[in-house]
Amino acid sequence: SKVRIYTLAKDLGVDNNKMLEMLDGLGVSYKSVSSTIEEDTVELIKQLLAEEAESAPAAPAQTADAAQAAPQAAPAPADAPTPSPAPEAATTAEDTGAPHRAPVVTIMGHVDHGKTSLLDYIRKTRVAAKEAGGITQHVGAFEAQTSKGKIVFIDTPGHEAFTTIRARGANVADIAIIVIAADDSLMPQTREAIAHAQAAKVPMIVAINKVDLPQADPERVKTDLTQLNLVPEEYGGDLVVVPVSAKTGEGVEDLLEYISLTAELEDLRADPKGTFSGVVIEGRVDKQAGVLATVMVQEGTLHVGDFLVVGEGYGKIKAMTDSAGGRIKEAGPSTPVQILGFSEVPASGEQVQSAKNEHAAREVIAGRAQTRRDTEAARERRKLTLEDMMGPLGTVRTVNLILRADTQGSVEAIQGILARKETDDVKLNVMLAGIGAPTEGDVLLASTAEATILCFSVTAPGSVTKIADNKGIDIKSFRIIYELIDEVDRLIKGNIEPVF
Ligand code: GDP
Repeated sequence: SKVRIYTLAKDLGVDNNKMLEMLDGLGVSYKSVSSTIEEDTVELIKQLLAEEAESAPAAPAQTADAAQAAPQAAPAPADAPTPSPAPEAATTAEDTGAPHRAPVVTIMGHVDHGKTSLLDYIRKTRVAAKEAGGITQHVGAFEAQTSKGKIVFIDTPGHEAFTTIRARGANVADIAIIVIAADDSLMPQTREAIAHAQAAKVPMIVAINKVDLPQADPERVKTDLTQLNLVPEEYGGDLVVVPVSAKTGEGVEDLLEYISLTAELEDLRADPKGTFSGVVIEGRVDKQAGVLATVMVQEGTLHVGDFLVVGEGYGKIKAMTDSAGGRIKEAGPSTPVQILGFSEVPASGEQVQSAKNEHAAREVIAGRAQTRRDTEAARERRKLTLEDMMGPLGTVRTVNLILRADTQGSVEAIQGILARKETDDVKLNVMLAGIGAPTEGDVLLASTAEATILCFSVTAPGSVTKIADNKGIDIKSFRIIYELIDEVDRLIKGNIEPVF
């Protein structure tokens, strides 16, 4: 699951109804406060709140304008109560006074294109071994030292890990490296990886790997990329493409430099003194130690002894180790830390918050449970207006689609027809168009973007249908193109699921 609306409201200190009004204003569809929303939307909400807070009476210089400025900041809040400025939203990521933080990078791409080898090469050459003979175990992330500073790599290659985390509403990666083997060029999972990075709006860098091979053809990779509307810089576009070899190490230094450069452009900041927030990268049970979880610190600082709240459970940090296995007492932003002290294994992608003490942790949890019940009830009482269903007039609605068909010809034919279906009010966004049956990855992608999966002359395997059912994702199969198009017409017109 992604970020639930009530969780977000709670986290940001905002009334649930106000949150729903803001979502209406953004034209985001939802069923109830327990619906989940994408993290792009979360970012937008945070921005709107930060703008509101800035123009609220708290800022002395602008007191006079504040009353007028505030309602404009959020497009829709008809009768929104004057916001008591959301304290966290105003002081977290938006605060440009916060210091820079290291980028967190994920590596995705087709199987056998060299993701693991590239990670291994970087780990071997860039991570100082803590103790001689000490075996560094896999904790889900590692910190590489470069001439331009620290870069944190998510250590599980592939878009499954990326999407599992994202599916819970967290965005851990700041930059995605798409690895493409120079002797193989674009393959199905390359396209999927690209679709996932695009859906997350995470900047991409393409690493053309295996350039040491005699049959390597990096130029072909670049040409193939242009066909996906990804135009390499040297062809006049803005896609950074770096030829590398995970075997010889050629180009890896350049790749690291481009990562630092991209990070600089993204202006990644976090306040080590801010309220702590983090995301679970992975958790496991160690036979000796007990429950171990790797948490990425996103904001604030963690200390041994802190109480942490995850979902509706909590734990106290008994010990922390950094990703190289060294004991640490505290950890600031962009640090992956392995934590001992959770009572249950938290799931990848779960948000972590801290509490002053056990009592406070229990209160947060009780509060969460209560808010969930209240808001569910409140939402049920809410009347459904036309605006609720369609979003305010003038809002462009987006219908997200994942397209699967039997041949490249059908994919292109369907895309050609869809391209003419867009209207001024409704945008059709084909997030991924691929050949063959839909995969589990498609379902995860669909669930992060509330997309519908449309199949033409292919059927989803039972295992995939099952996951889709669990996540409430529609997979619709057609044998006749025009029936598929009819379905798209319905989605364009409605996209409304009955709420009651
Ligand atoms: P992954 O499935 O994307 O993680 O790919 P791997 O890292 O497991 O690599 C797949 C195969 O390609 C392995 O046999 C690697 O040794 C090989 N390989 C990876 N990178 C390179 C490279 O830069 N050059 C050459 N020649 N082989 C490579």
